[in-house]
Amino acid sequence: MKIVFATNNPNKLNEIKALMPLGIDILSLKEIGCNEDIPETGITLEANAFQKAYYIKEHYGYDCFADDTGLEIEALSGAPGVYSARYAGPERNAESNMEKILNKLKGNVNRKAQFRTAIALILNGEEQLFEGIVEGHISEARQGKKGFGYDPIFFPENEQRSFAQMSMSEKGAISHRGRAVRKLVDFLISM
Ligand code: IMP
Repeated sequence: MKIVFATNNPNKLNEIKALMPLGIDILSLKEIGCNEDIPETGITLEANAFQKAYYIKEHYGYDCFADDTGLEIEALSGAPGVYSARYAGPERNAESNMEKILNKLKGNVNRKAQFRTAIALILNGEEQLFEGIVEGHISEARQGKKGFGYDPIFFPENEQRSFAQMSMSEKGAISHRGRAVRKLVDFLISM
């Protein structure tokens, strides 16, 4: 089975390829010749994920899945949520995004947060949606150099390390995306 993963993020592509069983070939956007920025104008993670998946189906004809992830912080009423990529501005800079969160939470004892991923799949003309959540907290300072995005400031529950201090497979075993992808894989292999 060949299926497109609608992302330009090489970290996400590697994370997801590592979780796919043999027999399911994941094609990147680059591999299908899609170099444009796919619109993401929804106000929920689910709407954005479907918007990206439908864009590929309509413009390139491939069955496709797309993910959208948000970091939801309790003390910030769920922000940055669906606006996680551009939290500190349109340049989507991970360092500035983390800085903004650390500043907003300065002195705040409630540091509870979760990552939530929505994966939208368009396959054989039908829609499916898969969700993965990991709960945890935001640290006082960055820890670790691996991963991407907000990984250095997110400590998953029951762990003494941030996502940025874990290998890709350690992160994938407990992460929001890992959990959502395993639901996607279970669905694909049940077909
Ligand atoms: P998107 O799903 O690519 O739109 O991601 C939204 C924002 O969340 C971006 O700023 C990403 O860097 C960040 N993000 C997505 N997934 C992760 C993750 O697994 N760890 C840390 N940050 C993430």
